[in-house]
Amino acid sequence: MSALDLINPTSDLYTKRAPVFPRVVNGRFRRLKWAVMVLCLAVYYITPWLRWDRGPHAPDQAVLIDLAGRRFFMFDIEIWPQEFYYVAGLLIMAGIGLFLVTSAVGRAWCGYACPQTVWTDLFQHVERWIDGDRNAQLKLNAAPWSAAKLARRLSKWSLWLAIAAATGGAWIFYFADAPTLASQFLAGDAPFVAYATVAVLTFTTLSLGGFMREQVCIYMCPWPRIQTAMLDEKSLIVTYRDWRGEPRTQGLKKAAAGPGKAGDCIDCNACVSVCPTGIDIRNGPQLGCINCALCIDACDEVMGKLNRPRGLIDYLNLDDHKKELAGGTATPMMKTLLRPRTLIYAAVWASIGIAMLFTLGGRSRLAIDAAQDRNPIVITMSDGTVRNGWTIKLRNMEGRPRTVELAMTGLPQGRMWTDAMDSHTAGRSARIALAPDATTRLHLYVSAPAGPAGETGFAVVARPLEPAVPGGPPQDAARNLKFVRQ
Ligand code: SF4
Ligand code: SF4
Repeated sequence: MSALDLINPTSDLYTKRAPVFPRVVNGRFRRLKWAVMVLCLAVYYITPWLRWDRGPHAPDQAVLIDLAGRRFFMFDIEIWPQEFYYVAGLLIMAGIGLFLVTSAVGRAWCGYACPQTVWTDLFQHVERWIDGDRNAQLKLNAAPWSAAKLARRLSKWSLWLAIAAATGGAWIFYFADAPTLASQFLAGDAPFVAYATVAVLTFTTLSLGGFMREQVCIYMCPWPRIQTAMLDEKSLIVTYRDWRGEPRTQGLKKAAAGPGKAGDCIDCNACVSVCPTGIDIRNGPQLGCINCALCIDACDEVMGKLNRPRGLIDYLNLDDHKKELAGGTATPMMKTLLRPRTLIYAAVWASIGIAMLFTLGGRSRLAIDAAQDRNPIVITMSDGTVRNGWTIKLRNMEGRPRTVELAMTGLPQGRMWTDAMDSHTAGRSARIALAPDATTRLHLYVSAPAGPAGETGFAVVARPLEPAVPGGPPQDAARNLKFVRQ
């Protein structure tokens, strides 16, 4: 819009959206998109139904976000709330992975694996199946309402609604035992939050993937704005080789122009008609381009028919584009991909992953927390000794019951007992039974002869009596405490 348009009261401030009906295309990038789409949908829909035997005391769902029990289960890995740093680590890895992909191949995430792209693609295939390919869709869209048009629209919207409901439905199964929740859901016995979640996700999937489509990428998503900071002159993006395609001209005119007088582009618009965001890549890099490469497939097909080399539209970086314009040749793709920036991203990404794997393999599945009693901290007993108390939490993070020996180290004349014991049986240790996969709370008392005011450090150590899992990490847990005398 020009400045004149802004001050002209008759001009529109908002351009009405022209619906995009992309034509179906075949080719290597379309096949890659099919593969990624099938993989993403399969992972999303099937994962909650995978079973994983963790014994009788833990859920047997392979991937489960147990909000009530405050646990995250993923196959053999169980994450407790105190270990949230692993989830943070995964999120950081996802972020760095996105930086790596973007600096190497531009918006490949947007073009292939973003949920908005995957579901929009799925909805568009359903649309083609009901209404036909691009030309039939354009014709139907322009046609006045009739019984036939209404029937097609209702069929399409019903299928879209079914996909959207299945998408919303699959999400809730990540948060509870999937078979149990499914039968409760169908019987009307599921919690209200399950129905509300499915309703919200059904609505958002239908509206974002079915109706709003490319507008989400162009106007709503912040990622295209952020990613410009991650692209550099070596990042591969879908590019039109204008030096080769221009001046573009159509078949007969091209023949008349004579050899060498016209570019390779025959202005057939095949690249525009397959574009899911409806843009013309020949106008240069644009915010609307999600780098899906379908225009490469379309143009390669045209070039094949014209017996011209493929790659009039191609993955190319800015540096190579400039080189080609000056008559040079592009850098080999592997050299472009393996450059310092991408290697640093890859190294950071891999280091975090290896560090997480290392700590996951070596973490203890027993933990101890202690909070000292206040008000008063010190109690003088009838025999003249002084006593301190602590609330102890013992976390047994294994899916089997265990017995631990809780013992004191340090404070040589100290004696300890728990609220489940008689103080007359106090000693230097106590046996505690721990429920499987649960936190056991107890009150610990420690007494020692009175003495000069001050603090004396000591520790409590929890040591499981059952043999450790063969090859597993050490299982002792300890906590340093301070005994206070006043
Ligand atoms: S598909 Fe190729 S030849 Fe046809 S308009 Fe696009 S760039 Fe030109
Ligand atoms: S211009 Fe090409 S790569 Fe970009 S969104 Fe359209 S079809 Fe995909």
